[in-house]
Amino acid sequence: MITEIVSSILIIIMCLSAYGLGMLSVSGALSAIPVGIVTMLAGPEWFIIILYFLLVGSITTKYKKDLKKQTFMVQEKGGARRWINIISNGFWPSLAAFLSLFIHISYLEFLYIFYVSSISSMAADTAATELGLIYRNPPRLITNIKHIVVPGTSGGITPIGTAASILVSATVGLVAIPGARLIAIDIFTIIFVATFSGFIGSIIDSILGATLQGTYKCKVCGVISENVIHCGEKGDIIRGVGFINNHMVNFISSMFAGIAGIFVYSLYLLQ
Ligand SMILES: [Zn+2]
Repeated sequence: MITEIVSSILIIIMCLSAYGLGMLSVSGALSAIPVGIVTMLAGPEWFIIILYFLLVGSITTKYKKDLKKQTFMVQEKGGARRWINIISNGFWPSLAAFLSLFIHISYLEFLYIFYVSSISSMAADTAATELGLIYRNPPRLITNIKHIVVPGTSGGITPIGTAASILVSATVGLVAIPGARLIAIDIFTIIFVATFSGFIGSIIDSILGATLQGTYKCKVCGVISENVIHCGEKGDIIRGVGFINNHMVNFISSMFAGIAGIFVYSLYLLQ
């Protein structure tokens, strides 16, 4: 009981500090507290993985920030993380961490794989998006490689972004080693599963971003963006489904990454 209380207090202090540093908004800090507590209760080995994801997000976002400011998408996506960021990125890992507190030990490995895989895909996607912004050539649409899009456009991919997604997923696998060892998953397997699911997750993210995600054209300035409101007016939808935004795409793709992780892990167990 004391461990739980100390852990919870520690998480609350961390979230308040993140708010103080401008990394989280008020709603972001309030929604990060339960995510932090539940992952910490699952075990510090679980918690360090989500912490690593936040670190990757923070470092890649800050990297060459001035250069990225020149592209308009950055301001729309940057700044303090709000509750919607926390929920879209934190829901699936939190659910896995929460269930791990009750589930029978023999199923724990699957929950852990789901947890690591969903985080891996978000870390991969964040790194790919942020590093793609500084790539000297504009991104190309994943569904039509001849189609060049504005940096930051959902569904746009760059070679550097794709390489970053693979590399970052592999490092998530490295950070996941301590937790994997506790449930007898070997080092090679956890790195492979994290890399595979992170890569698959960011591909799914790009495909959904290029197809399902709502894209609008501003009636005033003609800019094409993911924002319904531009120049103070509601734009015309030119692609995708109106209510599916970037957060929802992240939410869906991290779930699929978790499932992809369990799938490839099960194949490994069967061999
Ligand atoms: Zn406009």
